[in-house]
Amino acid sequence: MNTFQIAKTFAMDLLFPKHCFGCKREGTFLCASCLNDISDKVEIQRCPACSHRNFTGAFCRSCQKISPIRRLLFAFNYKDPLPRDLIHALKYHGVKELASPLASLLGAAVRKNALVFPKHTLVVPIPLHTKKMRQRGFNQAELIGTPFAAEHGLALVTDNLIRKTNTASQVTFSDFKEKKTNMQDAFSVLRPQEFAGRRILLIDDVSTSRATLDEAAYALLAAGALLVWGIVIARG
Ligand SMILES: [Zn+2]
Ligand SMILES: [Zn+2]
Repeated sequence: MNTFQIAKTFAMDLLFPKHCFGCKREGTFLCASCLNDISDKVEIQRCPACSHRNFTGAFCRSCQKISPIRRLLFAFNYKDPLPRDLIHALKYHGVKELASPLASLLGAAVRKNALVFPKHTLVVPIPLHTKKMRQRGFNQAELIGTPFAAEHGLALVTDNLIRKTNTASQVTFSDFKEKKTNMQDAFSVLRPQEFAGRRILLIDDVSTSRATLDEAAYALLAAGALLVWGIVIARG
């Protein structure tokens, strides 16, 4: 944080004492009892395309053709107000202390669905474009991904996938298959050898259209990654 951000955080604490986003009690942004309550409410995993309940988050065989990602794991539906408020507070109000409870909610979803990550899976947070990183001062996906990777004993890689454009360009999977060469435009991989042959878990706070995850996955696969899964706090 730069001096301005520190001063701003200090001023915000004085002006707006912390209240739990769940029960509104003063003292924390998410009290232990509310964290416990919503941990019990994490979702059963579904096919990311047709929402068929399957406990794995994998695409059905007939749905797979629409995405380069094999599974999209999620903790909540984006229309659930509490998780959405928590993500919003982290991302747009810089309430970084919410990153760790959000990571633990992902952990709760992993346990509830008995999901297992293959050994040596790499956790890769969706990067921000450098311009947005400068404006925001932090990458929420990285703040969530760091405790998540530690909890699951997985390595975290934050400096190999980079974002070249500021917004996802809505490339479709069939476009990708037709003209592989120019479809990794939104993201690029600096050191392909580090991802070659590896299983990668892309992590982000939210996925609504799946466009960002898909585009990042194209770049990872083009770099030689074996397969790509996605995991997000909230799925649209
Ligand atoms: Zn509470
Ligand atoms: Zn399906």
